[in-house]
Amino acid sequence: RPVMECDKCDRDAVMHAGYSGAHLCENHFCASVDKRVRRRIREDSMLPSDATPEDPETWVIGLSGGKDSVVLTHILDETFGKDPRIEMIALTIHEGIEGYRDESVDACVELATDLEMRHELVTYEDELGVRMDDVAEKDPMEMAPCAYCGVFRRDLLERFADEYGADKLLTGHNLDDEAETALMNFLEGDVKQIAKHFDASIGGFDDRNEQEEFVPRAKPLRDVPEKEVALYAHLKDLPAHITECPHASEAFRGEIQELMLELEEDHPGTRHSIMAGYEELAQLATERYRGDEEGVELNECERCGSTTARDVCRKCKLVEAIEAV
Ligand code: SF4
Ligand code: ZN
Repeated sequence: RPVMECDKCDRDAVMHAGYSGAHLCENHFCASVDKRVRRRIREDSMLPSDATPEDPETWVIGLSGGKDSVVLTHILDETFGKDPRIEMIALTIHEGIEGYRDESVDACVELATDLEMRHELVTYEDELGVRMDDVAEKDPMEMAPCAYCGVFRRDLLERFADEYGADKLLTGHNLDDEAETALMNFLEGDVKQIAKHFDASIGGFDDRNEQEEFVPRAKPLRDVPEKEVALYAHLKDLPAHITECPHASEAFRGEIQELMLELEEDHPGTRHSIMAGYEELAQLATERYRGDEEGVELNECERCGSTTARDVCRKCKLVEAIEAV
């Protein structure tokens, strides 16, 4: 196959984007990723309007060591690393997964050291007294490991973002992740979940928004396809870790992933059009459900003090069930 030339210069193209028809060389490809991420940051109003060097904003970045969060951290550092109005903290969560998380923590430490960025490491074991390897084995609720893990990760990300005084919590979700979640929510007929998925970027109905301690979420990579994130990490030689978690168990997402790859292959642009329609639908759904939650009384969890509509929060219930095995 003949090598194509870059659309913008006469160097060899390193990629072809089916959805846009673009052929780009290494430099122009990386520049186009940077541009999309910066545009997303502007359009989602992530830039601090009233921060000053004396009173900067704090951004906590969820850094797992995988390609997505590594690319996100790199681009944020390139863009805002010298901006005195923004302080960035990389937060890594160690789930207690032998031979998997240890290596990706090394990648996180390497990157944070390179960038001279403050790095914090929080473990399920220290904070919750559980390790995912044991959780997967004990499985008192007969659920997939990821169902426990997701609750724990969200709890710790929010708790520590809050503790560090974060104004924003940024995560590395890419276009494929977002389009898959969108399609899963459609297929499950879960309109409420559609509203929740977007509550962070459009200020939705989720009860957490009523809480002062709720930290707004941002997903600056959500316009960039997974393959392009991987290529970017490779071309920039970033220390990303690629092994898959041995407990990865989201079977439904796996099927959706395959479907999405096929759709994208036959109908380039499918992911983008799903997200465009989804965002509009999410706004409508948010309006529909706004107010529904107003009557819900929120308490502090009896065990850990986090905000919950019950006496004991979901995370504490799960930890308790695991301890009882
Ligand atoms: Fe946790 Fe599942 Fe991710 Fe493994 S794949 S780290 S179990 S959420
Ligand atoms: Zn609790």
